[in-house]
Amino acid sequence: MRLVTFTHMDHTGIGALSDDGVVAFRHDPTLPTDMVAFVALGAEGLERAAQVVADPLPLEDVRLRAPIIPPNNVMCVGKNYVDHAHEFSGSGFDASQKQAVPDHPVIFTKARSSIVGPDDTVDVSADLTRTSDYEGELGVVIGNGGIRLDGADAWDHVYGYTIVNDMTVRDLQKQHVQFFIGKSADTYCPIGPCLVTADEIDDITVARVRTWVDGELRQDAPVSDLIFDIPRLIETISVAVRLETGDVIATGTPAGVGLGFTPPRFVSPGQEVVVTIDGVGTLRNPMG
Ligand code: MG
Repeated sequence: MRLVTFTHMDHTGIGALSDDGVVAFRHDPTLPTDMVAFVALGAEGLERAAQVVADPLPLEDVRLRAPIIPPNNVMCVGKNYVDHAHEFSGSGFDASQKQAVPDHPVIFTKARSSIVGPDDTVDVSADLTRTSDYEGELGVVIGNGGIRLDGADAWDHVYGYTIVNDMTVRDLQKQHVQFFIGKSADTYCPIGPCLVTADEIDDITVARVRTWVDGELRQDAPVSDLIFDIPRLIETISVAVRLETGDVIATGTPAGVGLGFTPPRFVSPGQEVVVTIDGVGTLRNPMG
């Protein structure tokens, strides 16, 4: 199922995306109106949602929101594609460590307050350093959470997938060494357009992550290029941090971000960044 959070007139709720539009789950008043609560229902929620009978709302009549707002900060992985690890390490913006390709996953978080939805404007004009950059990434949404999860069982904890554009103010990322501030500006975490349940995708590792800026292809790599794969990320984070239902892990970005160019090609107001992942969708955001 392709799950969405949407606003239609004065109603914000959740539903399923189809070719005809959005089937709103509010037609079954026993279903929750919040995506995290819906994810918590697991397979039972999906079965009940499949029974909802309603005329789809035409897509042009709804505004899609970030499909899910996780209970914790968005969990992110730095330097998780080899070519990107080298471009970042060689760019002069990596204040984190000397080693280009890390021995262990580099985990950081983005503030929940930075989350916006598809088609929402990323306010890069607020970045006085003019070093705003894009990072197209696969987002993994956790179903059943837990602590000290075993990598061998990790797929059982994956509810589905979405797309995250891990927008970054590079100067702030560098100045403060710790990534949090540079990654957490308001509007710098577009997520969407939908949350695709794991059963919809046979093998997520063959999906390609692609990013365009104003129609120019900048990033293009398969998820199988991840240095630390999805089970390893779940195992690594949950060694110490309890993963909760609805948490989102942004798995890292391929080579081709703006800082990798000489000179860097950062984004500016008026541009558009589009990220697609096969089987997951297209996340489009104007820079304002
Ligand atoms: Mg990133």
